[in-house]
Amino acid sequence: METKSVFDYIIVGAGSAGCVLANRLTASGRNRVLLLEAGGEDKNLWVHIPIGYGKHFTNPKINWLYSSEPGEDWLKRRLIQPRGKIIGGTSSINGLIYMRGQREDYDLWRQLGNTGWSYEDVLPYFKKSEDQQRGADEYHGSGGPLAVSDPMEPHPMADAFIAAAQDAGHRRNDDFNGAEQEGYGYVQWTTRNGRRCSTAVGFLNPVRHRSNLTVEPKALANRILFDGTRATGVEYSQNGDIKEAKVGGEVIVCTGAYNSPQILQLSGIGPPEHLRQFGIDVVSDRSGVGDNLQDHVNCPLFYKVTEPFTANDILNRWSTRIAEGLKYIFQRRGLLGMGAGYAGGYMKVYPGTATPDIQNLLMLFSSEVIGGPIDPFSGVGVYTVLLRPESRGSVMVSSPEPSEPPKITPNYLTASKDRDILLMGFRKTREIMAQPAVRKYIVEEVRPGPECVSDECLLEYLENTGRTSYHPVGTCRMGTDDEAVVDPRLRVNGVQGLRVVDASIMPTLVSGNTNAPTIMIAEKASDMIMEDAGS
Ligand SMILES: Cc1cc2nc3c(=O)[nH]c(=O)nc-3n(C[C@H](O)[C@H](O)[C@H](O)COP(=O)(O)OP(=O)(O)OC[C@H]3O[C@@H](n4cnc5c(N)ncnc54)[C@H](O)[C@@H]3O)c2cc1C
Repeated sequence: METKSVFDYIIVGAGSAGCVLANRLTASGRNRVLLLEAGGEDKNLWVHIPIGYGKHFTNPKINWLYSSEPGEDWLKRRLIQPRGKIIGGTSSINGLIYMRGQREDYDLWRQLGNTGWSYEDVLPYFKKSEDQQRGADEYHGSGGPLAVSDPMEPHPMADAFIAAAQDAGHRRNDDFNGAEQEGYGYVQWTTRNGRRCSTAVGFLNPVRHRSNLTVEPKALANRILFDGTRATGVEYSQNGDIKEAKVGGEVIVCTGAYNSPQILQLSGIGPPEHLRQFGIDVVSDRSGVGDNLQDHVNCPLFYKVTEPFTANDILNRWSTRIAEGLKYIFQRRGLLGMGAGYAGGYMKVYPGTATPDIQNLLMLFSSEVIGGPIDPFSGVGVYTVLLRPESRGSVMVSSPEPSEPPKITPNYLTASKDRDILLMGFRKTREIMAQPAVRKYIVEEVRPGPECVSDECLLEYLENTGRTSYHPVGTCRMGTDDEAVVDPRLRVNGVQGLRVVDASIMPTLVSGNTNAPTIMIAEKASDMIMEDAGS
């Protein structure tokens, strides 16, 4: 067995969070950092061209291709659960939408006992990471590693959708990440000059030359090594060899909401009875590891539209494909540079809700099966996303083998309120799509179809079509209670020298998308780690 020399920090997982930490922890030159990543380099051209997003759902070279357990009563289907297996992690394959969630999300984290995580506390870290195309202001930063850009050009369908939302009584909002989240407008993307700005592109690649940073791609972490309850290193597999890396400071697990609880459990931190079933020696009895899984469920309405201005038209016709390709190459404009949503909005639907509980996203493409063939006509999807689900699931090892996927049991829509809110959201979304401003482009609602109006029909459609927005969080929950997996400084309870820093630490799901919040978490963690080390 090969043993690498001692590092100050070993970061496991070069995803949204891991790349940020690799950058920040090596900046002073004082720390020797090893970054282990199971996936390979981000060389695939379609990773960098935003519309390539649609190609990654089925590519085993860059996607873990997980799937979740069917629900017992709702969403009784296996759902695809894509996760990036590549430098940049899921930020290399995601839909590029830049959304932070609501002020109240972070204030709730603070109210749950997590000192240092109120909105006022985390806003500086959102700003620190950001290179906002519109420039800096009270809510935004410029000059940071993460590029945040407006769509390269307006789109008639997006303009019509936003106007229709206003006609339906919603306000216009040109900055979902500013003073107010509610309202409708264009979304922003993590792109720079029409190319994806993953955390690999923004944070890692510019600093890979640093002599105190060692990056090991294709290195699958098997388990964390312990001396008693102190983390001393990581065992990993690379090119068929088992290797060990030793740490003097800390191991920082950044493998995401599915793999972080898996690695902790494989290393003996988790519910003892479950670990013993698989012959795993218990290092620390933490029954909360893998619990508290939360995710966004969405359900799209699909429309056939009158104009050949959708991505379906690019993908279905050679002439448009060539024209759009040339437009992208020479002008960095057009639909090749677009993220998963073009316009969107937030609204309140449940009686008495204080803040928006539904997100809408207008996608300029339509397909019946995710990652499958797109519809043969000009089509768009309008997604209704449930922002704060009450349903909870779990992630548990199902084998002692690190290469075996964990068992993902999301229990989507088990809380009846989740279904109620989605149905209310559907109806309000249809109100927007019935306005003349957008109606002029609509041939028909193709799925579920205008005749589907009753609760029964809409619930059946939700059952057959509901899917995840790919925002799992919460499985290594931060908190101050006995069940919490990490404390508010993200140190794993019950052991020493080990933190978790990624989407899994969120105590509750944010009311937006999860890439920007995960990057914020890693920015804040970097400061906490250096403070705690006195460096
Ligand atoms: C299809 C899709 C679309 C999305 N769209 C958006 C969007 O538009 N906007 C948005 O904000 N969010 C979006 N998200 C969600 C967002 O990208 C994620 O929440 C975020 O990237 C999670 O970051 P993370 O650091 O927790 O995990 P990840 O970025 O997944 O990083 C984990 C890393 O750890 C590596 N790893 C795992 N296990 C091991 C191991 N044993 N050893 C070594 N390495 C390991 C993985 O390969 C990966 O690189 C989307 C997600 C998906 C899947």
